[in-house]
Amino acid sequence: MSTNRTFTMLKPDAVENGHIGGILDKITSAGFKIVAMKYTQLSKRDAQAFYAIHKERPFFGELVDFMTRGPIVSAILEKDNAVEDFRALIGATNPADAAEGTIRKLFATSIAENAVHGSDSDENAAIEGAFHFAGREIF
Ligand code: GDP
Ligand code: MG
Repeated sequence: MSTNRTFTMLKPDAVENGHIGGILDKITSAGFKIVAMKYTQLSKRDAQAFYAIHKERPFFGELVDFMTRGPIVSAILEKDNAVEDFRALIGATNPADAAEGTIRKLFATSIAENAVHGSDSDENAAIEGAFHFAGREIF
């Protein structure tokens, strides 16, 4: 069953490069409503748990170092068909392969430092949203 929420993070590279405003504008202009949002920094433990599915991948250590090196913006977004539409809005993992006009094409610098996270399924959207937000922080 498809739900109407997804989870995103504006990653440390996006924050460092001054793209918070530009990315949030793309997100809200595309019709997503922000129902939860915070400015925060992941601990190593947080990042290892959040990306546990990638723990056997060769880039896991790099990914954890990257995601913990500075603040991020995390948010829960609402829209019909949120997960699929948001993955389309952010574009391919590697910005070199991302379609014109996508957030990663516009704001990412590499496959590793690709500006933004988007949940890949309704189930993961719910798990990831609950990892970052208490019920009283979601509006
Ligand atoms: P996503 O779902 O499009 O974010 O991509 P994946 O789930 O495959 O990978 C998760 C995250 O790991 C990506 O968004 C990147 O930040 C990072 N990543 C993916 N591939 C690589 C890689 O080859 N090298 C490094 N250093 N990081 C990667
Ligand atoms: Mg993924």
